[in-house]
Amino acid sequence: MSRRAFVAGNWKMNKGPLEADALAMELKRALIDASGVDVAVAPPFLSIPAVVARLSHGGIAVVGQDLHPEVSGAFTGAVSGEMLKQAGCSYVLVGHSERRSLFGDTDAVVARKLRAALRAGLKPILCVGETLAERDAGTAIAVVQAQLSAALGELDRDSMMTITIAYEPVWAIGTGRTASPDQAQEMHAQIRGWLSARFPREVPASVRIQYGGSVTASNASSLMSQPDIDGALVGGASLNAESFRAIVEAAASKPRLS
Ligand code: PEP
Repeated sequence: MSRRAFVAGNWKMNKGPLEADALAMELKRALIDASGVDVAVAPPFLSIPAVVARLSHGGIAVVGQDLHPEVSGAFTGAVSGEMLKQAGCSYVLVGHSERRSLFGDTDAVVARKLRAALRAGLKPILCVGETLAERDAGTAIAVVQAQLSAALGELDRDSMMTITIAYEPVWAIGTGRTASPDQAQEMHAQIRGWLSARFPREVPASVRIQYGGSVTASNASSLMSQPDIDGALVGGASLNAESFRAIVEAAASKPRLS
């Protein structure tokens, strides 16, 4: 079973509808020849309709940056998975470290959001990763495993087959400091090992594990050359069509591994 590389751009709170439309148009042009790789972008909620309209049939999927666990109701300011699906999203980020650290998403909340994504028919991109203090304390692997257990521990095989995991060390997000390819590979192998110990063989063989944290056009190839790195979740560098294209190209030239 081979895994197709997957690169997603997280635009965070950048690009209102007009700018998002312009960037989507540039991406469509820049990525016209991209093949052998799945590509997606996560605009802010308000910009999703413009991006979906621009990218429909363009081979670039649209991702929600977050979702509320409930379908609807008195949750001012929130957006449900069902709404994202209706708006044309096919994926949703769950448990991004900025949601965890700035908006109070605990492991329990992340687990509820992940189930809500599945309920809505969205494919979750589950973000996990340790802080610098946790890495320095030697607990990085345990922290990531605890995040995986809380979010995925109870899922069945079919749900697992829809999941992407993004390993994003918190100390590498938006800091310009990237995990070395060896550091990233070590954690990705641990994550795949965690999957192997809990799910049928096809799950660890098919679930894609993206690396995220200051991925750029210049470090993408060395990260993608690692056997358990199946793509990237890209923040800052996804706001520029040319640098995003170069990262997508680096992922596309990665040999497929099982
Ligand atoms: C992210 O937002 O998921 C991310 C990895 O950001 P950056 O690439 O800017 O570090």
